[in-house]
Amino acid sequence: MLKREELLRIFESVGAIRHGHFELSSGLHSGTYVQCALVLQYPRFAEKLGQALAALFSDARIDAVVSPAIGGLIIGQEVARALPEPRLSSGGGVPAVFVERDASGMMTLRRGFSLNPEQHVLVVEDVWTTGGSTQEAIRVVEEAGARVVAAGALIDRSGGKIDFEVETQSLIQLPIASYEPEDCPLCRQGSMAIKPGSRYVRSVS
Ligand SMILES: [Zn+2]
Repeated sequence: MLKREELLRIFESVGAIRHGHFELSSGLHSGTYVQCALVLQYPRFAEKLGQALAALFSDARIDAVVSPAIGGLIIGQEVARALPEPRLSSGGGVPAVFVERDASGMMTLRRGFSLNPEQHVLVVEDVWTTGGSTQEAIRVVEEAGARVVAAGALIDRSGGKIDFEVETQSLIQLPIASYEPEDCPLCRQGSMAIKPGSRYVRSVS
């Protein structure tokens, strides 16, 4: 089992967790920046993190993993891969199903994915800030008639404020500390906030 320090080192080594002075997409300033796609782009890291997250649910019976797209896709797949063969086995392992937004912006099951009432579901996402996407995925699973038994994320930025009313686990707790620019202690120390995502946007446009 990887320790928190080892997990943090993996994220930091690829810039998926950065320390400094950042302007977030919300316009708020923060001393940390998180972008899980930067660690999940590496299959060996994704696999390791999936194993570590799946291990937190070793006491639960899990028949399916459901993730909100896009952020949950890769980690959902890797957590499912790491789980033991389910009772209702197709021979292919635990299915990794995803929910996505329809034209009206509602999270929904598409592509012929289905869940049945016998299935115990683990909902998995990359990062929780408010946990809104995971909450929506839980609703979709329940409307499909299956039972959500647990929820997991790589990183919980909520500071323990989230309550999904099921067993909840995350690999790293990294409470978000963000400030209005005029109240930002980092600005007061004289440094400039950078927009961490913007250079990646520029490089593809
Ligand atoms: Zn600032």
